[in-house]
Amino acid sequence: PAQTQLGLMNHEELASEHERQSVTYEQLKAANLALDLTRGKPSPEQLDLAAGLLTLPGEDFRDGNGTDCRNYGGLGGLSELRAIFGELLNIPVKNLLAGNNASLEIMHDLVVWALLHGLPDSPRPWSAEPNIRFLCPAPGYDRHFAITESFGIDMISIPMLPDGPDIAEITRLVAADPQIKGMWAVPNYSNPTGAVYSEEIVRTLATMPTAAPDFRLFWDNAYAVHPIAEEFAPSYDVLGWAADAGNANRPFVLASTSKITFAGAGVSFFGSSDENLAWYQMHLGKKSIGPDKLNQLRHLRFFGDAEGVRAHMKKHRDILAPKFALVQQILDDRLGASKIASWTEPKGGYFISLDVLDGTAARSIELAKNAGIALTGAGSAFPYKKDPLDRNIRLAPSFPSLDELEKSMNGVATCVLLAATEKLLRS
Ligand code: PMP
Repeated sequence: PAQTQLGLMNHEELASEHERQSVTYEQLKAANLALDLTRGKPSPEQLDLAAGLLTLPGEDFRDGNGTDCRNYGGLGGLSELRAIFGELLNIPVKNLLAGNNASLEIMHDLVVWALLHGLPDSPRPWSAEPNIRFLCPAPGYDRHFAITESFGIDMISIPMLPDGPDIAEITRLVAADPQIKGMWAVPNYSNPTGAVYSEEIVRTLATMPTAAPDFRLFWDNAYAVHPIAEEFAPSYDVLGWAADAGNANRPFVLASTSKITFAGAGVSFFGSSDENLAWYQMHLGKKSIGPDKLNQLRHLRFFGDAEGVRAHMKKHRDILAPKFALVQQILDDRLGASKIASWTEPKGGYFISLDVLDGTAARSIELAKNAGIALTGAGSAFPYKKDPLDRNIRLAPSFPSLDELEKSMNGVATCVLLAATEKLLRS
């Protein structure tokens, strides 16, 4: 570890620190690692927790309403499963649909249909506007930004703070600019900082005046019930609060069981106002006769009720918490004294956001890659993949084993220190 604050060292001290880190780095390379900290995937051990799904629903193919789940139909999904997730997400069952395996697909459909057809309260389709803009709290989820970028929607970066995005900046922008049509939001255990939006910020987002009549909050509650601490984060009644303020159509709430059961074979959910759901199902009915209800049925049988989901999430927590604790400990031991890095300490979700010395994130990631440690690409948590200060690294501790995690995090720390001493020696 760097025992002293790097910023306080004179040139000579820095040179010897650089030398020390270079030696450690050469040892790291010699270890020929092949480790991956890039994506927030559940580990095989976590997937095993849902092994019971593989033999469900068995011969039982009817839900409690007598629906034959083998057949076509039921565009909105099984109501008994919607009731379970409605309780967890704080959404009335009539305002929550259950879909196929990926909430990202729903988000993509929502953006495409808003562009092509316009929303219920749009003066014209978004694509008929001269240009439209989305607010993008950053660091944020790269796949959100990839959707808006792919359709040429201008992305405005909003600083992400510990209790949610910079709300003063957001309220100022949306009140003034009718071309701001949407905002990406991950309210619970945000990807990648782990921030949980405060009640006050959620209320403000639901109620604030917007210049656009068809402004939408893309409320991606992907980590709604995913604590690694004792407490579960609340799912605030964003739909109700928006409706009370006359903005019933504002929130598009998304969720899925991707990080609850199987990441590739879970169930997605979409919650919104009556009017938005009618609009969505009108368009959905053109691309589908109905979702995979057998998959929904096996999820229903597997969980039983909302408490079943919470109990299941505690098993994930028992696997994930030691991994997050290990990352915190290594960051602290290896980087704490150097004072060139800071990192978030999430109470849930799948990520830790590490900020290194300005101007050295890309170099640190490159050094790690050359030592066999794959990290998420530099800048990927920012709109257009441009990290303005080149300092952010997203860490995803869920997939590797504890042993692999220890090796890779020690490697990352070495790379961060080497990149920092290189930079400081040059300046
Ligand atoms: N939203 C966020 C914030 C995520 O982190 C992820 C998964 N990494 C997803 C959505 C993907 O969800 P799904 O599997 O339901 O498409």
